[in-house]
Amino acid sequence: IEFPAVYEMLSVMKAKLDASRSLLYETTRFVDMYKTYEDIARERSLTPDERAEMKKYSRLADAFTPMAKGMGSEYCNQNAYDSVQVHGGSGFMKDYACERIYRDARITSIYEGTTQLQVVAAIRHVTTGTYLNQIRAYESENIAEAYLPLKDELVKLTDIYAAAVEKVTSAKDSEYLDFMARRLVEMAGNIIMSYLLILDASRNEEFDASARVYNNIAKAEVAKHAEFINNFTPSEVNVYKKA
Ligand SMILES: Cc1cc2nc3c(=O)[nH]c(=O)nc-3n(C[C@H](O)[C@H](O)[C@H](O)COP(=O)(O)OP(=O)(O)OC[C@H]3O[C@@H](n4cnc5c(N)ncnc54)[C@H](O)[C@@H]3O)c2cc1C
Repeated sequence: IEFPAVYEMLSVMKAKLDASRSLLYETTRFVDMYKTYEDIARERSLTPDERAEMKKYSRLADAFTPMAKGMGSEYCNQNAYDSVQVHGGSGFMKDYACERIYRDARITSIYEGTTQLQVVAAIRHVTTGTYLNQIRAYESENIAEAYLPLKDELVKLTDIYAAAVEKVTSAKDSEYLDFMARRLVEMAGNIIMSYLLILDASRNEEFDASARVYNNIAKAEVAKHAEFINNFTPSEVNVYKKA
């Protein structure tokens, strides 16, 4: 492919697809773990350690499910939009599947809970630290040497995220928190998906490009949201009520 604008679009689409799939698999792993303990608990009582593990995975499943549904369905829409774009005028016509995919994609961020409601479900895991704790857990996982510079970037992004969470929560203003909720959830999601792709790439080089491309997306997105949050005073929310 000759044009940078086009091969960038394609690699960003692939990175968002791989990131969404990776987040989905991580979420289903957490669900499998606590459901397995639930099954065992039907046959015998769990040890205290097992009960603690079940609680941990149940909490992670609860945190990751709205994140996977919310970010995955938004990426689905973005990818459908870009897939029409890379096809040009043909993409708009019925000759190719992407015009149908574009129409079908639109419902994914509405049914099974709108993106805004996924954020309502996810925000308490921002304020209680579930996401931050899990991000710190990824930090200490086995990351291949080739990806350590990317990991260093993620450590910096995590500090930016933690500072943004502190700024918003310390105001103790629930309307301001609701206003910033989607930005905070997305920041956590960007960091988590970037870690997951780096871990995937550490095991399988097929994920190398997506891990690198997504890390750039995560850096840009986290910086964008942090910029918005840091230059915003809670009372500015009132400006947005005038629309
Ligand atoms: C094709 C299709 C298939 C469907 N299939 C099913 C099905 O099988 N089973 C089923 O139960 N339902 C189904 N639904 C319904 C679907 O679950 C709802 O459309 C969806 O939950 C959104 O609710 P709503 O349409 O009432 O929109 P509303 O709730 O009125 O939302 C309007 C806007 O307000 C926002 N909003 C609403 N509440 C909040 C809040 N608390 N905080 C922030 N923002 C908020 C929403 O995000 C949205 O942007 C289907 C819908 C469609 C279109």
